[in-house]
Amino acid sequence: MSKENILVFCAHSDDQIFGPGGTLAKYAKEGKDIYTYIFSYGQSTHPHLKKEVITKIRVDEAIKADKEIKGKGVRFFGITEGRFIEESIGKNLESEIINIIKRKKPSKIFTHNADEAHGDHRDVNKIVIEAFDKSNSKADLYAFDVWSPVTLAYRKNPKMVVDISKTFKIKLKALKCFKSQIVALITLLGSVYVKAIKHGLLNRHTFAEVFYKIR
Ligand SMILES: [Zn+2]
Repeated sequence: MSKENILVFCAHSDDQIFGPGGTLAKYAKEGKDIYTYIFSYGQSTHPHLKKEVITKIRVDEAIKADKEIKGKGVRFFGITEGRFIEESIGKNLESEIINIIKRKKPSKIFTHNADEAHGDHRDVNKIVIEAFDKSNSKADLYAFDVWSPVTLAYRKNPKMVVDISKTFKIKLKALKCFKSQIVALITLLGSVYVKAIKHGLLNRHTFAEVFYKIR
């Protein structure tokens, strides 16, 4: 029996944990292979550091966090923040993503929501959906959100609720790998709890993550 593959496409190197981290850890425990693709190194968070220095820090953090959730590895596309659409055209990223989807034959793909506050997140949503549609993949494509308190874009679409009660601790541990993102971490950590508890209460779990089906 071939292994079930799960793909994640996100803008920056902590989104994959902030968004679907608990779910990914759960799938990994179930024996599924998780592959994460990150568009940018996220250098702009530390303008005072040399580009190479912050790049290395963020790559190392992403690898550490991936080990926490027992993922199968992270890959960076090296896109500059704020220039996702132009640069992905320039680098022909669409055909790269189509190839990845065709090669990995995932059962599920996770990416950013369409109405995220962060422009890079919305751009990833657009780029991934376009590539997905051209890939003829049969995978379920799901949206997660990082910054938005409420989701409006896909609220009429089917919803997937994942009970992450058993992996919520792993999600927190993975989040703590992103030491360079301490400000965002503190800002978001509250909402990570609130969301997990809220989705949990609404769906009769202790902690839950909720995703909306895009395709
Ligand atoms: Zn982000």
